[in-house]
Order: sequence, then structure tokens, then C-alpha cells
Amino acid sequence: MPTRNFARVGLDRVYLPFAAVAFEVISRCEARGASYIATFGSRSLEEQAELYRLYREGKGGKAAPAGLSAHNYGLAFDFCRDGDRAKPGLQPDWRASAFKELGEESQRAGLVWGGTFADAPHVQWPSYVNATDLAPLRALATREGVAAVWMRLDKERSSPFWRAANPKLAAELARLGF
Ligand SMILES: [Zn+2]
Repeated sequence: MPTRNFARVGLDRVYLPFAAVAFEVISRCEARGASYIATFGSRSLEEQAELYRLYREGKGGKAAPAGLSAHNYGLAFDFCRDGDRAKPGLQPDWRASAFKELGEESQRAGLVWGGTFADAPHVQWPSYVNATDLAPLRALATREGVAAVWMRLDKERSSPFWRAANPKLAAELARLGF
């Protein structure tokens, strides 16, 4: 498990099957000589609301409203490469070329890569990408909490329909014992 790559983010609020596949992806990138550091994992509804407020006031980067980001359910990570490992801390390398291995390996594993919608650092679980996809999860989480969302996903990924629609991710999960 590439713990160093995930040292900056809390993993307890990340959906475990997603975290397990993300570890694999980052290990494969590492083996190719591309070292990625996770900079964001799970984000609470309160944290998301604050980011959205800052965005709307022109004080922060683009952010989705609370409940409409896959990060709110532990279904996404943001990654970047350190552009200068000689300097202390993380010096993000924002060049498009710095996300090549991340894009290739995440998609090869059946995850969704944000580079397909102008968000190259972002890697996430499939099917819950935009506001329309995420609205039912927000309703469920509001009523019953994030654990209920994960139970729904557990049920979903065990169905033959889901496995047929997500063959690469289903194969990764089977190999990892999920
Ligand atoms: Zn993200």
C-alpha cells in the first residue's frame, strides 16, 4: 500500500473499495516512475459549502455546491505530482503532461478520470460524476448519512448489471477481494 502517497488525506471517510483501487492505480503510476500525492480525499458537506461560498465570492477555485461533489461521499481523490522534490512541502506540477500516467492508469482500472472534463487531478468512482448523478446520493446522505450511501454502492456493485457495465473496475475489485 503506497501510504506515503496518501499521507496528506484522511482515509476513514473514503469508500473502501474505491480507496483500494486508487492505491493500485497510484502504485502502478509509481512503478512507471510517476509519483502522485493525494491532496484531497473526502470532504464533509460543511467543508464543501465553505468552498462553494468562497468560489461564489470569487475567492476560491471552482467548487460544486454541498452534496454535489463525489468528494462528499468519499468517492474521489485529487492528485498531483511534486514538481520539485528538493524543496520542502509539495510543489504541484500543473502541466498537462504531469497527469498522463494518472489518466491512463485510472481509466485502465475502470475509474473516471477528471481529465476528460478539465479536472486533471481528479479521479473518482464511476456513475456519480455530475449534479444529476449525485442528487440521489445527497438525498440519501441527508436522510440516513454517508454509511447509507456506501451500502447502496455495495449493493449496486454486486449486481450483474453493474459488473457488465463496469468490467474493468469489477475485475479490479474481484482481484482485491471485494
Ligand atoms: Zn476532485
